Amino acid sequence: MASHKDPVAVIGLGRFGRALALELARGGTEVLAVDHRPDVVQKLSGQLGQVVVADSTDPDALTEIGITDFNRVVVAIGNDLEASILTTALLAELEIRDIWAKAVNRQQATILERIGAHHVVFPEQDMGERIAHLVAGRLLDWVELDPEWVFAKTKPPRELVGVPLGQSGLRKKHRVTVVSVRPENATSFTHADYDTVLTYGSVIVIGGRPTDVERFVELQ
Ligand code: ADP
Repeated sequence: MASHKDPVAVIGLGRFGRALALELARGGTEVLAVDHRPDVVQKLSGQLGQVVVADSTDPDALTEIGITDFNRVVVAIGNDLEASILTTALLAELEIRDIWAKAVNRQQATILERIGAHHVVFPEQDMGERIAHLVAGRLLDWVELDPEWVFAKTKPPRELVGVPLGQSGLRKKHRVTVVSVRPENATSFTHADYDTVLTYGSVIVIGGRPTDVERFVELQ
């Protein structure tokens, strides 16, 4: 496994790659940002330490920028399928330990996985699904940890109000857990305890399987 302190190379500085590189840098990760368009590199060079012009489909260019020094590389090229595939294949050939690749559709994701990407992300699809949960109903936020586990921010349903959480039988009855609470008029969240009592104005974060969480949120 790559360590969280390892530097990260981000190839392709479109909207996704740019946001990713800047956020990594903000969090203290050393980033090498790469794009083949000089104007794109130019624009970012004031905001990131290392931004270089290189065509990632060219094996010599990849070696020249020192890509093999990186344990983690993100291929943030989505729309140019050929460049995304070639780049990922070259990185796999160079035995980069942790290759992340962005896909814009399912076929691209399958190909990228087959040729050696260790993680394929689908920003538009993932975000679409996430927003769908928010638009559909009472959810205030929704985070999918994996297809089988989610956290959701919501208001407590009537049956949870006024009863200490430990006595609510919530986990047994609805198979969800209240993990955090923002009490009415408070500005931030805190731990949910056995004896926490919710009011209608509270906001809660619950964890559970997606179907259980969805059902629970509809209870209101
Ligand atoms: P987004 O939807 O996030 O904006 P794009 O797929 O449109 O993503 O952006 C991809 C970025 O990758 C562009 O800035 C483009 O110049 C860059 N790019 C495309 N091909 C290559 C390549 N062969 N080498 C380096 N960068 C590339």
